[in-house]
Amino acid sequence: MTDFKDLKLAEPLLRALGEEGYATPTPIQGKSIPALLEQRDLLGVAQTGTGKTASFALPLLHRLSLSNRKAVSNKPRALILAPTRELATQISENLFAYGRHLHLRTAVVFGGTSIRAQIQAMARGVHILVATPGRFMDLMAQGHILLDNVEVFVLDEADRMLDMGFVRDVKKIAAALPRERQTVLFSATMPKVVQGLANGLLTDPVRVEVAPAATIAEKIAQKILFVPKEKKRELMCELLKDEAIKRVLVFTRTKRGADRVAKFLQNSGVRADAIHGNKAQNARQRALTGFKSGRIRALVATDIAARGIDVDGVTHVINFELPDDPENYVHRIGRTARAGSSGIALSFCDLEERAVLRDIEKTIRQTIPVMEDQPYHSPEIASATGTAKRKSQGQKRPQGQKKSPGQKKSPGQKKSPGQKKPQGQSKNGKRKPALRRSRPPAAKAA
Ligand code: AMP
Repeated sequence: MTDFKDLKLAEPLLRALGEEGYATPTPIQGKSIPALLEQRDLLGVAQTGTGKTASFALPLLHRLSLSNRKAVSNKPRALILAPTRELATQISENLFAYGRHLHLRTAVVFGGTSIRAQIQAMARGVHILVATPGRFMDLMAQGHILLDNVEVFVLDEADRMLDMGFVRDVKKIAAALPRERQTVLFSATMPKVVQGLANGLLTDPVRVEVAPAATIAEKIAQKILFVPKEKKRELMCELLKDEAIKRVLVFTRTKRGADRVAKFLQNSGVRADAIHGNKAQNARQRALTGFKSGRIRALVATDIAARGIDVDGVTHVINFELPDDPENYVHRIGRTARAGSSGIALSFCDLEERAVLRDIEKTIRQTIPVMEDQPYHSPEIASATGTAKRKSQGQKRPQGQKKSPGQKKSPGQKKSPGQKKPQGQSKNGKRKPALRRSRPPAAKAA
């Protein structure tokens, strides 16, 4: 399959795909979309990053757009269950992007936010409901969601759903769905219990499978460096004494953070610059050209700015702060080890970032080994994160990573000479919950 046009999707969808800049279906899309357009059930084995969301979202939008029915109060025509609010948000954002030229309404419901807005959205009527199981069950029990009109049921990341203890909820929800429906189940892995669930839910499904996108592990040596927040800058300077770090992309969560880190590096004698959305286009271009030519050794970037950076020969990625969205971790570290070369990804993790680290490890399905032989290693953060499993993985230094001068093997938190008082990373020193960044309204036309 070389072109979306060959897939016979509705014109408004093709237009939206064109605007998104997607011309060619990914392998999972090429396999799933034709089967789903034929209204088959589908069992998909694929991880995030493969384009799996569009592989069920596009046929779903196509199907619903064919009959121009008004949304009925409390009765969605499609139900998508996702294990986490982040994934639910992401799915609804995808539906909104692909369905922008259609007149379909999508709502997303999950716990931890006001139930009232969600009740109102359901009462107004939606075509597609994206939900996490807990809040969905509450709304269903209170009579705000009725499943009689559901034509399409999608269960995304089924294995994670089961890991999180949602199996009974999922079974209850499935039992309340009309028997006559199309069902799609996606899972990154297919253990027996997921296969059992699939057998119960799907009728004569087409099975599609793609190799995990995250083959990152093979080419990228990943390390976690447990470090107190206020020691991160010193740690970076220490690491940059290693000349093997020739071209490094440093990630921060905020634009201000990127500026501060770049300034600190410059003051410490490192050729550095920052790139982010607040910079004028020519300043961004200058930074990028400098990075490409080798004039700049460390480019400090935010996730969004980094999307457009495609530079070969990035030897290292340093996550000065971990991304709230685990998938950005994959995007970030994928900036090194391009075009078949190998690369090193070093991620700083402070006490507040432990939960984010766990999310990342769940997403990539790996436990990232810890680099202990660095001068600011914090055993407290390490033990608070539960490192028993990690330690058993050994402490091999990543390829090409020499021990830097001044690096101490002991886990003490030494104060380095010339250490500056660190500035805070955010106004109140707290992390912003991932959700606030991009939560769409409870319901909107998609
Ligand atoms: P997913 O696996 O659904 O999380 O998608 C991974 C990423 O790939 C998302 O950022 C999508 O926007 C993007 N994407 C999905 N389909 C395509 C495509 N056909 N071409 C390029 N990018 C895509």
